[in-house]
Amino acid sequence: MSLPIILCIDDDPQVLRAIVRDLKARYREDYRIISTASVKEAQDSLTELKNRNETIAMFLTDQRMPDMDGVSYLNYAREYFPDAKRVLLTAYSDTEAAIRAINQVQLDYYLVKPWDPPEEKLYPVIDELLDDWQLNYKPPFKGIRVIGYQFSLKSHTVKDFLAGNLIPYQWLDVQSSEEATRLMTLNNFTVKDLPLVGFEDGSWLKDPGIIDVARKAGLNPQVKHDVYDVVIIGAGPAGLAAGVYGASEGLKTLLIERRAPGGQAGTSSRIENYLGFPTGLSGAELTRRAIAQVTRLGTEFISPQSVSNISQVDGYKKILLEDGTTINTRSVIITTGVDYRTLDTKGVADFTGAGVYYGAAMTEATACKDQQVFVVGGGNSAGQAAMYLSKFAKQVNILVRKEDLRSTMSAYLIDQINETPNIAVWGNTEVTEVTGSDRLENITVHHFQTDETTTHPAAALYIFIGAKPFTDWISESIIRDGKGFIATGNELKGYDHFGNIWKQTRDPYLLETSCPGVFAAGDVRAGSMNRVAAAVGEGSMAISFVHKYLAEVK
Ligand code: NDP
Repeated sequence: MSLPIILCIDDDPQVLRAIVRDLKARYREDYRIISTASVKEAQDSLTELKNRNETIAMFLTDQRMPDMDGVSYLNYAREYFPDAKRVLLTAYSDTEAAIRAINQVQLDYYLVKPWDPPEEKLYPVIDELLDDWQLNYKPPFKGIRVIGYQFSLKSHTVKDFLAGNLIPYQWLDVQSSEEATRLMTLNNFTVKDLPLVGFEDGSWLKDPGIIDVARKAGLNPQVKHDVYDVVIIGAGPAGLAAGVYGASEGLKTLLIERRAPGGQAGTSSRIENYLGFPTGLSGAELTRRAIAQVTRLGTEFISPQSVSNISQVDGYKKILLEDGTTINTRSVIITTGVDYRTLDTKGVADFTGAGVYYGAAMTEATACKDQQVFVVGGGNSAGQAAMYLSKFAKQVNILVRKEDLRSTMSAYLIDQINETPNIAVWGNTEVTEVTGSDRLENITVHHFQTDETTTHPAAALYIFIGAKPFTDWISESIIRDGKGFIATGNELKGYDHFGNIWKQTRDPYLLETSCPGVFAAGDVRAGSMNRVAAAVGEGSMAISFVHKYLAEVK
């Protein structure tokens, strides 16, 4: 971590050298002492230091300088670093200006030149000022900062992307953070530039696309090889497991992810039934461990990148990415999982990201502190989200169309919900409308049994109503069932046109699709078990079928 700065300014090089020498002799372990003879340079450096989220502990400046006097500089610098201590270096004859500055710029001290011996005249003063400064000093956040409106879809998308990719960031709400206002003013940003994403090197992206944020954050590296043994599409539990086994068994393996690794499981606040984790673990933690494992073993990982087509060329598979890049591979495993099912209720689309969220219980949970929130859906995802939200919200209300949760949620979660006083289950209900001004404010609920319709204030509505496969992009030669899930193995024989597509002398392998050498694993596969452990099992099994396939086409 970089040390807080003591910034010294004096146009007389000899005096500057002397003060820097004396300060370094005593403070270099705990502070970075930087200096300039040009007040102009000292002015220009402030924006950069601020954008890099550096901290200035103390300004120590000469009073008499040709371009700007010391008091004026301290006044200017106060806008950037209001908490820094301000010390003026004065000649005896400038004492009056220094005394005036005590009120004018809340000067902390004026030091009369010369300060020899420093042990007597310099260090005791500086020690006291720095001790005082340390009392209120919190080391600044080093990393990405996001400035935006709390209830904005664009801000939510950026935060969701960063959180999903396990990139730490600091959120600065433009309506409540003084630091956000300061950074906006100092950089001449306007609300049209929001959301703003600031990086450690001091640069900012205005209203960026996800791909720009990803690139700048160091994601999305270029593809390294001309031909891969296996390309895995989708980095949920199935894809990550396939990545681990592929690379560890010597295959040239590439893993491509459209948004963020972890898939649906990655957004789970607590997975309690995954083997080997008796106290449960969060989806983010599982993902973090899996990504570390997969990349350590040598799988290349590119994200965010969407695949738009797979075609067969001379026995190879050609994968076309949305940005036009093509990748050659000998086999493919599709592990694209499922996408959130959207709620088609009046107003929901208008407030998505502004109080209405899909699968975002963790990213936006702190925003619902001490408020009344609603969860739609009665499956395990909804149950976990409600448990997580109950730690922040005043009251969490689960809205389900059925009478209760018994037929849709695991018993252990129902027990936890029953034992949590600030969670209520509203059976036999559905949301009929959501309303608000620039963000969600109220939701209207219809009660089936009484036929009543009631309206309630709502800080947030979290929707967890299951998922559908994301397979529209897949070509005709890969057979899907009526709901879009990919058919594999023996099941394929039940489709009339299978015989027209499949031209091999052997039957398809267990996880093989109707296109030889293209496999499907996890939730995207028809008949999958919708369990993290099952997805992990299928991902690893798929690699053993890849070996068989590759041996046969050699
Ligand atoms: P599920 O398919 O299990 O549940 C969907 C829920 O949404 C149902 O309660 C359904 O209610 C409701 N629903 C669907 N459409 C609407 C609508 N239009 N309006 C209101 N409610 C609606 O989805 P999940 O995402 O929760 O889970 C997917 C799978 O992943 C499941 O198999 C689950 O067990 C698994 N999972 C496991 C976890 C674990 O820790 N083990 C964690 C998370 C998920 P209705 O009955 O009225 O249709």
